[in-house]
Amino acid sequence: MLAALSAIVGSRWVKSRPAALAPYDSDGLPGYHATPSLAVFPGTRDELIAVVRELARTGTPFVPRGAGTGLSGGALAKGVVLIGLNRLTRIIEVDPVNRIARVEPGVVNARLSRETVKYGLHYAPDPSSQSVCTIGGNVAENAGGPHCLKYGVTLNHVVECEVVLPDGSLVQLGGASQESEGYDLLGAFVGSEGCFGIATQITVRLVPLPESVHTMLADFSSVTDAARAVSRIIASGIVPAALEMMDNATIRAVEASIYAAGYPVDAAAILLCEVDGPVQGLDEDVAIIREACLLHGAREVRVATEAADRMRLWQGRKKAFGAMGRIAPSLVVQDAVVPRTRLPQVLEHIDQISARHGVRVCNVFHAGDGNLHPNIPYDASDREQDARVHAAMKEIMQACIDAGGTITGEHGVGLDKIGYMESLFDAPTLDAMCRLRSVFDPDKRANPGKVVPMHSCREWAGVVR
Ligand SMILES: Cc1cc2nc3c(=O)[nH]c(=O)nc-3n(C[C@H](O)[C@H](O)[C@H](O)COP(=O)(O)OP(=O)(O)OC[C@H]3O[C@@H](n4cnc5c(N)ncnc54)[C@H](O)[C@@H]3O)c2cc1C
Repeated sequence: MLAALSAIVGSRWVKSRPAALAPYDSDGLPGYHATPSLAVFPGTRDELIAVVRELARTGTPFVPRGAGTGLSGGALAKGVVLIGLNRLTRIIEVDPVNRIARVEPGVVNARLSRETVKYGLHYAPDPSSQSVCTIGGNVAENAGGPHCLKYGVTLNHVVECEVVLPDGSLVQLGGASQESEGYDLLGAFVGSEGCFGIATQITVRLVPLPESVHTMLADFSSVTDAARAVSRIIASGIVPAALEMMDNATIRAVEASIYAAGYPVDAAAILLCEVDGPVQGLDEDVAIIREACLLHGAREVRVATEAADRMRLWQGRKKAFGAMGRIAPSLVVQDAVVPRTRLPQVLEHIDQISARHGVRVCNVFHAGDGNLHPNIPYDASDREQDARVHAAMKEIMQACIDAGGTITGEHGVGLDKIGYMESLFDAPTLDAMCRLRSVFDPDKRANPGKVVPMHSCREWAGVVR
């Protein structure tokens, strides 16, 4: 395999020594480790297709990998071939008239917006990892981000995808006309977590830059009040561009780091709320949001209109996970969704669970979408602590499911949430997922062992339970 792949991409771009494979041993979630058998880094689309065809010829399983910032262990390749896409970084075409761009999968999310700003356009989905993560990884995870509340998630911005299927054939999903006939196979592919094939070229929508932007910081002395204010803001009829919440533990972690943003460290919670659009009417939106926050006990509502002030506020939010990395050697990152109106109760429940297990939960999340990220910084080398953290996490996830929510809003199932799939879906539903996957990858060689528990598939279980 080493020789065959080297013949396609050059020996420099095939790694097999343990030291060279070590960087690919985990993704953004520190708790999982797995070493690939080989890592191959194609430099062109044709090389990528040739690599996949060689793997198909030999029946070899593989895992695609973008920047490796995923938070569900999805890009781990245990004993199989890892295909690194980070050399495929061309922005092939920007069409400002039709407001689309065609890119290779390894293009970094934030770079696309930087390079289209000259046309007055940007790529709206903005995961907090956007300075590193790739468009291919975003497509595979159907990534979200703070501004997806108003603009929609990745799925709403992908127009067309060229995909190399695990058998080496090429398919075009979606289309530039932006209206597809027949079944929405592009919709099925977006969010397929590397299990349906590899996106080789992606056409995305670009969105005009807003005329004006105001970012507000509201600080509260109670998490429950902040959560209630979220529902009040949405009920007012305004769709903020972003509506994010951070609790006191997160605020302190951020303020103690180089990402300090001037957040009030004595606040129980803060809301970051952004409105954008035509200048006319924006002040009115700000006034309505301010009133909603004050009505629910906000101590202060600050408004940043200058770009530098706004960026500082956002930097603290977007680098919050990194700031947590400073306070403990390990971090559990969770990603669940609850109906927005259940936020106050679920946050109180999470508080009780963390107190009962003696763990410190840091909540930082997309409040407007009800997409929670309860994170726990801790020391995994302490077995007793490790057990407590995992017991608390399990209860937190169950609390979200019981509240009518789900187990992932944007980070995907990968390895980390696979154990929760059977709490959420019944056997026939899991079986239907397996059969959908078989349409794209009948041999289950693409990203094996992820998303759907193997024993849930009819052909693995023998019977539908
Ligand atoms: C600090 C931090 C903040 C984050 N904030 C957010 C956030 O706000 N919103 C959010 O949604 N996520 C967030 N994430 C998670 C992560 O950045 C996203 O899931 C991102 O989309 C992953 O992109 P990647 O290039 O790193 O993909 P990887 O981690 O390399 O891969 C992720 C999955 O995609 C598959 N894959 C990669 N490329 C392709 C391809 N071309 N074709 C098919 N499959 C492919 C892989 O097999 C894997 O299953 C955050 C992560 C970190 C570390």
